[in-house]
Amino acid sequence: MNSSDKDLFLSVPRQPKCRYSSLYSDDELLDDDEPNTNPADSWQDLGINTAQGSVYLPAAGRLPPPTKEENSHQSAVIKAGWLDKNPPQGALYYQRRWVKLDVDYLRYFDTDKEVYSKRIISTAFITNVSSVGELKFEVVTHNRTFLFKAESEAERNAWVAVLQDCTKGRQRSSIVNPLSPLTPDYQGYLELRGLRSKLYTVVVSDKVFLYKNMEDYRIGVGITSIDMNVGNVKETDRRSFDLTTPYRIFSFIAESEQLKDQWVEAMREAIGEALSNSEVVERIWAVPSNGYCADCRAVKPEWAAINLCVVVCKRCAGEHRGLGPSISKVRSLKMDRKVWTEELIQVFLLLGNERVNSFWAANVPPSEALSPSSCSDERRRFITNKYRHGKYRKYHPLYGNQKELNNALCINVQCSDVLETLSLVFCGADVNCSTGVVDCPSPLSLASAHSQPLQAEFLSHNLNTELPRSEVGGAMEAVHYSAPPSVSYNGFLFKTGSMQRPPESKAREEFSRRWCTLNDGCFSYYESDKNSNPNGSLKAAEIVCLAVNTPMKHGYDHTFELYSNSERLYLFGTDDEDSHKEWVKSIAKTFIPANVEPLLRLSFERIGRLKYKDGLNLQTPKVGWFALVGSTLHAYLEDSQGEEIHLRKLQELSIQQDNVLVLVERGRTLYIEGERKLDFGGWCAAIQRAAGSGGDTLSQQQLTDKDIPVIVHSCIEYITQHGLTSEGIYRKSGVNSRVAALCEAFRCDARSVHLREGEHQVDDVSNTLKRFFRESGEVVFTSNASREWLSTAALQEESKKISQYQLLLSRLPRVNQATLEALVNHLYCVQRFSELNQMNIHNLAIVFGPTLFQADGKDYTAGRVIEDLIQHYTHIFEVDEQQLKRQLDEITAIIKLHEKLNNKIPGTVSGHFICTVYLEEKNDTAEQHVKIPGSMTAAELTCDILDRRKIPVKENNYWSCWEVSEKDETERLLHHQERVLPIFHSLGTDSYLLIKKHLAMEAMTVYLASKVDVSKHGIMKYREERSIPVLGLSSGSFNDRYFILSAGSLRMYKEVRSNRPERDWPVKNLKVYLGIKKKLRPPTCWGLTVVYESKKQDKPERQQWYLCCDTQSDMREWFATFLSIQYDGDVWPVDGLQQTRMSRVLDTHHGNVSLIPLHGSENEMRNSVAAFSQDALALLRDVR
Ligand SMILES: [Zn+2]
Repeated sequence: MNSSDKDLFLSVPRQPKCRYSSLYSDDELLDDDEPNTNPADSWQDLGINTAQGSVYLPAAGRLPPPTKEENSHQSAVIKAGWLDKNPPQGALYYQRRWVKLDVDYLRYFDTDKEVYSKRIISTAFITNVSSVGELKFEVVTHNRTFLFKAESEAERNAWVAVLQDCTKGRQRSSIVNPLSPLTPDYQGYLELRGLRSKLYTVVVSDKVFLYKNMEDYRIGVGITSIDMNVGNVKETDRRSFDLTTPYRIFSFIAESEQLKDQWVEAMREAIGEALSNSEVVERIWAVPSNGYCADCRAVKPEWAAINLCVVVCKRCAGEHRGLGPSISKVRSLKMDRKVWTEELIQVFLLLGNERVNSFWAANVPPSEALSPSSCSDERRRFITNKYRHGKYRKYHPLYGNQKELNNALCINVQCSDVLETLSLVFCGADVNCSTGVVDCPSPLSLASAHSQPLQAEFLSHNLNTELPRSEVGGAMEAVHYSAPPSVSYNGFLFKTGSMQRPPESKAREEFSRRWCTLNDGCFSYYESDKNSNPNGSLKAAEIVCLAVNTPMKHGYDHTFELYSNSERLYLFGTDDEDSHKEWVKSIAKTFIPANVEPLLRLSFERIGRLKYKDGLNLQTPKVGWFALVGSTLHAYLEDSQGEEIHLRKLQELSIQQDNVLVLVERGRTLYIEGERKLDFGGWCAAIQRAAGSGGDTLSQQQLTDKDIPVIVHSCIEYITQHGLTSEGIYRKSGVNSRVAALCEAFRCDARSVHLREGEHQVDDVSNTLKRFFRESGEVVFTSNASREWLSTAALQEESKKISQYQLLLSRLPRVNQATLEALVNHLYCVQRFSELNQMNIHNLAIVFGPTLFQADGKDYTAGRVIEDLIQHYTHIFEVDEQQLKRQLDEITAIIKLHEKLNNKIPGTVSGHFICTVYLEEKNDTAEQHVKIPGSMTAAELTCDILDRRKIPVKENNYWSCWEVSEKDETERLLHHQERVLPIFHSLGTDSYLLIKKHLAMEAMTVYLASKVDVSKHGIMKYREERSIPVLGLSSGSFNDRYFILSAGSLRMYKEVRSNRPERDWPVKNLKVYLGIKKKLRPPTCWGLTVVYESKKQDKPERQQWYLCCDTQSDMREWFATFLSIQYDGDVWPVDGLQQTRMSRVLDTHHGNVSLIPLHGSENEMRNSVAAFSQDALALLRDVR
């Protein structure tokens, strides 16, 4: 035996050594430190030794080796194989060992035939596993490190991976999870005959463990374990007894006769337990498919989800437990004997893993299927998909039809087909639905009444089960979630009194030490760990937010805040960073629902639930879960799988009415509502802070959706609109104080800075842009690559140079790339108009070289790079020529406008807004870009457009300006004297200005001329706008009403004979549009949409309603009367449009507002800005 073992050792040179005399004091006593030259002292030979000197063992020296089948009674082996174990101290060679890993233990054996290990290490006590050196890896426990060597790199990596996976998180869970350490039934020192030392022996449940001493027991490193299901105990002497197993006889000697009796009793109980434990297991396993885990197919699964009817292995059971008992009720086949009623066992025998999986796992893609060696993450994903989401289940034909499902359930529970019941229930049938039968109101009672105990048993375990919910659909309620029982944690924390408003910095003295516990979804704090009544507690469901403060904010290094739904804030602190982290994660885990658990992996600053509304859902707010990490808001909105909102890229962020936080992203608006003041206030402040610029590097800025800093984008846009013709643009300096103020404004909140002509000077803006680049925390080329950019400029061959620039460009971070491209594009455009602005490529390079490289400018290399970039812009950035041409055309159009105005009014530039106006119809060819001064009237605009198109105006053409709304399907004639600019500013996105002939004007003037008195009365069909316009749902219909329009007011009567008007509106406050939205189904096609706007300071009001006339001429008359009353009879210019036209050309100042002089003194400039500003609307918006 011994010699054959020697043959198995690796071919390392054997060095006879003589250290065994000291074995008993050696740490590795039983771990064959030494070559087995002295069999008497080695554990491996213990049996033989014992056998040789006694009658217990047969002459063979050892009982026959067990068959594999018998051996596998232990937990499923995850990995097994030959490894070389490092030599103990002093020895030079490795020892070949058969190593086996299961969920609970890593063991190694002399050979693969052995039943009893040389060493057993609890995986819960392994603190680290890592590769070291060639083919080696080490397994670290608290005070001992085991070094193994594999035969190949692949094998070594496989061991490390599987060990890491097995031990990951175990360390913590041994403290947190009360399920893992089993309490010993009996323990103490026992002498094993033949060995001169005593062993620390522990009887736990159905096993006996042997340790070298108590210390080893505490650190989880033992010799072996003995399964008592095959054991037998026999007293042999006053103090000694034998534990006989088929593979070895253990002869123990107790310290006294009394202790011996107790040991014998404890071991006999363990045998009893082992036998009864295996009773349920053996019966369940009688169905062949139950011998394999329903999820990963590991052999001999010892656990079950009793409501889902699957038998699973220990590792899968752990993941089932993670789903929470509302989804999976996990029980052990061995330990939870009480639940295993005869009925439940019968259910499992009737169904069996195979049949049940025909439902649960009907559609598993091979790529997602588990194997016994799958890692924890894979298991969690698969098991969550399988049971929480029901992703792989076989859909019942009635799925989605609640009534039919319930009906089918009631019928089916009366027969014996439990699988069909399971299929119905997990496809949505309501276990608690009403049967309509008086005596048996529920399916459960119906099953019992029809003598279907197995149906009843199955239903009884699913009365409160949460049904599988696919990723989409299903409401995310805050209340249904109950914390998994496995989350528990306790320890000391320092706490202040609870607060009703956010705390200022709290000093250390204001905190008191409290014993805190987290158990069963309840967080409690006690005076001390001796007290049993908590000073206070918070249920998980009451916690709405958890905020992690920045370190050192308060007297303790690390603090966090809990917000309750009753508007209180609890502040806790500790100096221990790890414990702080652990508390934060554990508490967060108790109050967030399982489907948002990925949030726990983030190092969030704040996590919690908030109500929100968004695009599709503006009426009822829904519950969303949010976590703030840096400048990213992670959100789990209803039905979503989690999304990220990049706060620095928001288009708008504002707070409305104190309790709505509005986040406008490209393509959607999210309204977060403050249900409670306290946590909402915290969220708002944190989100606003996170949405601001986070520092002075490019990527820390607020960004556009193209990843360009907003400051860069705004400045470029402004210069393009207003500065391209400015001589020496970017070369001239602005006013330093104004540039500084502008930079500061951008730094605070770039999104809120709106550059406006008249308010901001071109040179101030251009210098703001330069200063931003010069003072940025990192150069746009990045500090690492700057040298390479500079050296590229020296390359002679052009193609090489371009490809090198391209390479460098591709290596830049995204934001830098986008920013550089935007800037170079801009500079390219600037130099294209160098005839006007005098800034050619070289001039721009002189300015931007040192700016962008943040250099002193003595050396022109930096400038040469910029020259190259502009020169080869289209090649380096691979620009679409068509797009570039369009861009340049646009700029040309803008410049032409400037020129035109400048020529017409010498010494002035634009002080106006460039607006788009259409001629006759809305399309691209009819598009006109016009500068509209604040004083321009509709008639002037009309003439301007006609002039541009060289359209002659004839006497009876009645060209006029219209405000057209596509959304409302209406159009309104602008009165010829009406100022255009305010109208333009008030236009919605789907409205525009159109110049066209007014075909009915002649008829109207004829009608008005025929009237002595400007008034009209008659019946019209009236309809009110009652509902919320957002939803487009209108109620009500058109009804006849009698109207009188005269003397400045419009009055409405219920009928002709009524004395008192129902409504009375002043005509001056009415706007009358031709047309009514077809959606409202107007009864005739001659309708008017009337808008009433009162601009009273205290109570602004807006109403809209509809009027329908019976004939076109009737409508025309009403409309003419409106106009005539509103404009005191001036419906059309008396001398026609021609007159306006002529006077306009002569007019040098467009009404009473003079234009802003470019080269004038500052005083002049201020005055004209002030005059311009008097028209408040004029500055409301810049039109780009
Ligand atoms: Zn499994």
